[in-house]
Amino acid sequence: MSFVNMRRKLLLGNWKMNKLVSEAKEFAIASRPLAEKAKANNIDLGVSPTYLSLAAVKENASKDMIVAAQNVHFNDHGAFTGEISIPMLLELGITWCLIGHSERRAYDNETDEKCNLKIKALIANKMIPVYCVGETLDEFEAGKTKEVVSRQVKVGLKDLTKEDVKDLVVAYEPVWSIGTGKNASTEIAEDVCGYIRSVLKEMFGEMSEEIRILYGGSVKPENIKAYLSCPDIDGALVGGASLKQDSYEGLLTNIL
Ligand code: PEP
Repeated sequence: MSFVNMRRKLLLGNWKMNKLVSEAKEFAIASRPLAEKAKANNIDLGVSPTYLSLAAVKENASKDMIVAAQNVHFNDHGAFTGEISIPMLLELGITWCLIGHSERRAYDNETDEKCNLKIKALIANKMIPVYCVGETLDEFEAGKTKEVVSRQVKVGLKDLTKEDVKDLVVAYEPVWSIGTGKNASTEIAEDVCGYIRSVLKEMFGEMSEEIRILYGGSVKPENIKAYLSCPDIDGALVGGASLKQDSYEGLLTNIL
């Protein structure tokens, strides 16, 4: 293959339901030099705080730090108690959003169809979705990984054009490896990420080469480099190891 991969590496921390606003703000300030170091090395660096901390992180982090929401509603406004809309994110300058994280799929009835509505709404507003896919332990053990991720990608990204998906990010996160300390081997991760790219190719042709695919699931400073050395893995979505400043720094330092 003569193709040279021009995709920028992306390291994104998912803070889930962690950190008070004050803690998130402190982290944002302390991470300013890291964001500059990442930029100087052509790496995109970001975090995904809770809704409550988005404004504080956006205001206090380096302008080079990506700040992503963890979810959004697909309607702009209305009677949706407890939800947050795209215009509300945009008002804070938030242009990235995770969609379909497995915890939302498991606890909040986030279906592929609902993810599709959210992704289309984000793209219509020129925002960048990070679409999370991945199989459960039962599905993995039944040998259904590719069937599952193929369905998630095809339904989640249906009705989109090549142009629509050029900035989109897909995160492959096997559910059995999230927060469990049980990593997918680099062979499994690369095999599935390569397969996801082949599904994207069927849907969007050569644009599939521009789409960044992340691996997520118990990524730590000690193992991140091995994942990012795989040809179809363009970065990492990291939960636990992104919460403490020193390990977040270690994740970046180990891929420079
Ligand atoms: C995640 O929440 O997306 C994740 C990958 O978590 P962890 O790194 O803790 O497994």
